[in-house]
Amino acid sequence: MTQLPLRAQLASALGRSAATLSRMTGRGDGSVIGGRVGLLLEPDLLRKLARDRKLALVSATNGKTTTTRLITSALLELGEVATNAFGANMPAGHVSALSEQKGAPYGVLEVDEKYLPEVLDTTGASVVCLMNLSRDQMDRAAEIWLLAQKWRRALSGKPTHVIANCDDPLVTWGASTAAKVTWVAGGQRWKEDSWCCPECGGPLDRKDADWACRECTFHRPEPQWAIDDEVAVDPRGQRWHLDIQLPGLANRSNAVMALAVAEAFGLPVERALPHLREVTSVAGRYTTVERDGRHARLLLAKNPAGWLEAFDVADPQFPIILSVNAQGPDGRDTSWLWDVDYRILRGRPVFVTGQRRLDLALRLDVAEVPFTLCDSFTEALAMQPPGRVDVIANYTAFQAIRSEFGRAV
Ligand SMILES: [Zn+2]
Repeated sequence: MTQLPLRAQLASALGRSAATLSRMTGRGDGSVIGGRVGLLLEPDLLRKLARDRKLALVSATNGKTTTTRLITSALLELGEVATNAFGANMPAGHVSALSEQKGAPYGVLEVDEKYLPEVLDTTGASVVCLMNLSRDQMDRAAEIWLLAQKWRRALSGKPTHVIANCDDPLVTWGASTAAKVTWVAGGQRWKEDSWCCPECGGPLDRKDADWACRECTFHRPEPQWAIDDEVAVDPRGQRWHLDIQLPGLANRSNAVMALAVAEAFGLPVERALPHLREVTSVAGRYTTVERDGRHARLLLAKNPAGWLEAFDVADPQFPIILSVNAQGPDGRDTSWLWDVDYRILRGRPVFVTGQRRLDLALRLDVAEVPFTLCDSFTEALAMQPPGRVDVIANYTAFQAIRSEFGRAV
């Protein structure tokens, strides 16, 4: 790799010092502050740090952090990989990640959906992985349509190789201006944001996984990769039993996306797949914490599509604790609770906690799901019989539980 110019070297070093200082003083992992300091001294730092590396950008409404982790795990087979493992997914976090791993020839960066065009322009990443787009908290469909339109503009005219989920019509539309696309049939559980054609506004007709616009030529492209229950089918039709430790269909989909990205980096399935199996939890998600014989498995759900994915993973034979907060990172408005169909929880013991437990209680009452209201997560956990319990929490509720158990990983 060529040497960074002096100013960029200095900016990068000072950024790392700021990050270390931030960690030492207990203000988080320091990746955002470190990146900000670096960018302040050298606004072109991200471009300079990205130069001479082969990068993959990963973006979606749900599954970004997990898929970034899976791809990173696979690419470590090829060499050192720079990655923003802590979910700091805006440019300051990217600067920090690349700065911390200066010599890494590869990089896998989780990118906030809104920042994807800017980060793609700046880094010139050769691979982009796009999984799904749905309403996030209070964002409505019109806003995610605008996002997809920005992706189209950003990808148009670039040599980028896009790996995209063709089961999501909006992602398909967002990706289809790219020069090269590998389509993955990654599934789509949440369909409420894609009943209309993003191209012309006409109705989308669906038959099984297939979809097509009734009024224009926009339709589902032929996938090169697919999932058949527990099996990944590669572009040559070869079948691979996934056998990953992360639970649920959404993670099998993330794994197939990761295999397709790995192949774009020249890494064949037989070398990538064993590394996907090594990943057991991602930033506390899917991990199990234990107290007094209660084994609580932690699931994060930040938006309606995320709740459906969590329901898919939660085991109906165990009780379930739901915790909903409404702080800044969660969104203050919890009206999205009405977008989620909670009736699937009928028949299992349900415990409700978090700052907005009363909002959730009302929602469950209307859905005719019996529940027990608890003042805190600790109280909810203590009410369980010894054994397994599933926990679904939104962002700050999840982080609060994690820190109560010593930053469970
Ligand atoms: Zn159409």
